[in-house]
Amino acid sequence: MDAAKYIWMNGEFVAWNDAKVHVLSHTIHYGNGVIEGTKAYKTEKGYAIFRLNEHTKRLKESAKMTLIDIPYSVEEMNKAQIELIRKNEFTGLNVYLRPFAFLGYGVMGVYHKGAPVETVMSAWEWGAYLGEEGLQKGIKLKIASMTRPANTSNMGKAKATANYLNSQMAKYEAIDCGYDEALLLDDQGYVAEASGASFFMVVDGKLVTPPSDNALVSITQKTVIEIAQDMGIEVERRRISREEVYIADEAFLTGTAAEITPVRIVDAREIGCGSRGVITEKIQSTYFDIVFGRNAKYEHYLTYID
Ligand code: PMP
Repeated sequence: MDAAKYIWMNGEFVAWNDAKVHVLSHTIHYGNGVIEGTKAYKTEKGYAIFRLNEHTKRLKESAKMTLIDIPYSVEEMNKAQIELIRKNEFTGLNVYLRPFAFLGYGVMGVYHKGAPVETVMSAWEWGAYLGEEGLQKGIKLKIASMTRPANTSNMGKAKATANYLNSQMAKYEAIDCGYDEALLLDDQGYVAEASGASFFMVVDGKLVTPPSDNALVSITQKTVIEIAQDMGIEVERRRISREEVYIADEAFLTGTAAEITPVRIVDAREIGCGSRGVITEKIQSTYFDIVFGRNAKYEHYLTYID
């Protein structure tokens, strides 16, 4: 990660190296924090943040789910992110934003009422999450040995830091086994999502993606469904079993960081032609046109900085 100049912390811009916390901050010990992952792209008219309001709203909602009372409105946090991009004077093709609310120093023990809430917005230039080659040729996906925790034992719809222990274990295992990313099933054995992205497959020209029953309610997944329907591609949201993944014609992951990443192998099985599929490529190029401001129909999803 390349350092930027400033981080917005509790209403003020501080120098990147001064954005620090105490080692006894509550979240570091007990894992209750909420994050967002938002992206800005350098368009012909300067940087534009993609679906900013939806991301900030999801942060607020994640916080409500996990009993963190963020003392800023969605509008105030949107403004902070716009200003953050401006002040940092980025030059790269895209910038990743990481809004974050966590419990600070002052209270110990699991009961967190009264712990101070810290709100932070950071941004930095970041290349392709699953690699440039992954975007072109596809990645290798491994079905994780651990499932996504059942809805009875966690809040999977909160983008909560705590949920990323499960993602982290799955991702580490996948990479250690020679794969690039992990696909997690739910406790019933159906596809939930990847460690940090949503899953799509193409079957007989149709897109199939699971419902958000045991997954984050993803903003990119929604965008891709809209893109596909606009192109006249049928989209089906239903449960997907492991075997169906293995015999799909095409597969790809979607996410703010993952963008549209083709999948070429799942658990030693080649998917379709073993490289980026035709429909995947169409959706990928349309997605990049949209986020880079080259598609007028989707302009309303862009918040320009200048
Ligand atoms: N699932 C998980 C676990 C994620 O971390 C992400 C990335 N935020 C996604 C799905 C995709 O969500 P989005 O499209 O909103 O970035």
